[in-house]
Amino acid sequence: AVRPLSGKVALVTGASSGIGEATAVALAEAGAAVAIGARRKDRLDALAGRLREDGAAVLQLDLDVTDEQACADAVRRTREELGGLDVLVNNAGVMLLGTIVGADPEDWRRMLSTNVLGVMYMTHAAIEGMVEQGSGDIVNMSSVAGRTVRKGAGVYNASKWAVNAFSESLRQEVTGRGVRISLVEPGAVATELRDHITQPAAKASAEQMYTSMRSLESEDIARAVVYVVSQPPHVAVNEILVRPTDQE
Ligand code: NDP
Repeated sequence: AVRPLSGKVALVTGASSGIGEATAVALAEAGAAVAIGARRKDRLDALAGRLREDGAAVLQLDLDVTDEQACADAVRRTREELGGLDVLVNNAGVMLLGTIVGADPEDWRRMLSTNVLGVMYMTHAAIEGMVEQGSGDIVNMSSVAGRTVRKGAGVYNASKWAVNAFSESLRQEVTGRGVRISLVEPGAVATELRDHITQPAAKASAEQMYTSMRSLESEDIARAVVYVVSQPPHVAVNEILVRPTDQE
């Protein structure tokens, strides 16, 4: 098999389920050493075991991306224990859909601290070293929701629009220094994401939306990430939007 990422080190946040887990597996299959971060230790234990069985170098990180110090520690440990950091996949996220009228602001704090500040803290920890080494990829997991606003998704939309704005500004800032900043924007993917929605009506309508079509699988998005980070150094895939064929 072709191993385009041999010798590279990747760090994936939110690697304990869904897209992040599939991405960690795909990056390891492509030859990368992978650091896997999330809060659920049991899930990371299982994934680390599976990756090691397949011969990958793995570092397991107890990581809450809303904790700035934990983000800094995750990047530092990856560099120390896996020998560098070439690919950062900022995937950790929550989608607490619901109306703005009658919302619990705790949902908003969770979305903004995880989806926005989490991406910023991880990027802050990683970017200087990448600029110094003159290479590196930061892939931010945005969403169709980062491009298209819908009622009932306002704060999730706001969080992903923030990710897109931050990514594009940083892309311009580091242009010419060998570092690539990319956005991957999935449509509906069958994962645990919608299970955490707290507003009952929003949860039911998300359930209906996801099950009314052939959703994407996490592996479909993992392939897009591997495509982005496997390009030759002069090629930057800035943005990939992947919808299920059946999604409007
Ligand atoms: P999952 O719920 O399966 O995965 C979310 C991951 O994020 C888990 O590994 C979870 O780990 C982690 N996470 C959540 N909060 C934190 C935190 N504070 N610190 C560290 N990790 C955290 O959902 P998906 O795989 O679907 O979601 C992954 C990304 O894809 C998200 O950014 C989501 O917005 C995006 N996306 C998903 C779509 C979909 O339809 N599924 C569509 C478009 C975008 P743990 O709880 O163990 O910490």
